[in-house]
Amino acid sequence: APVVGVLALQGDVREHLAALAAAGAAARTVRRPEELAGVEGLVIPGGESTTMSKLAVLFGMLEPLRERIAAGMPVYGTCAGMILLADKILDPRSGQETLGGIDMIVRRNAFGRQNESFEAAVDVTGVEGGPVEGVFIRAPWVESVGAEVEVLAEYGGHVVAVRQGTALATSFHPELTGDHRLHRFFSDMVRSAR
Ligand code: GLN
Repeated sequence: APVVGVLALQGDVREHLAALAAAGAAARTVRRPEELAGVEGLVIPGGESTTMSKLAVLFGMLEPLRERIAAGMPVYGTCAGMILLADKILDPRSGQETLGGIDMIVRRNAFGRQNESFEAAVDVTGVEGGPVEGVFIRAPWVESVGAEVEVLAEYGGHVVAVRQGTALATSFHPELTGDHRLHRFFSDMVRSAR
């Protein structure tokens, strides 16, 4: 089974661990550089992207994460995790760092102004068996993408799922549903990156 870490600085870590295990991955938490070195792929959970980036600095994880991602470690960011994977954040808060990895600009809390939280069926390219249930919680959307980025899903005219090589990101939270297809999709990305 692919060894997949969940960045455990803040956010919905437990839900991702359960979803990864259900998808057949060997899931473990990652808080320190030594733990990062032991995983083949990494999930960056939903939560609060500014807090997560500040904790990454405190835990000495910012550079190790940037290096592994730049070196092609498969990575999947949901919601706040998507924001952290963006090369550029449109409206960053002060002190907010990004890890980068996907040539895109994200808008934080983009859906939040109209709807704090909502669910919607989302068709994701590459995920078979019909739309996934997208849970959006103060979710970002992708404002623009570079030429290397594949748009996997849109909702309401906005990009909500993307992939660039070994990096995957969704605005929504599949870990909060019983549907593990996206975690299986990511586990397969980790396997094929071996
Ligand atoms: N709005 C949050 C942020 O900016 C993300 C919300 C979430 O992950 N559910 O980090």
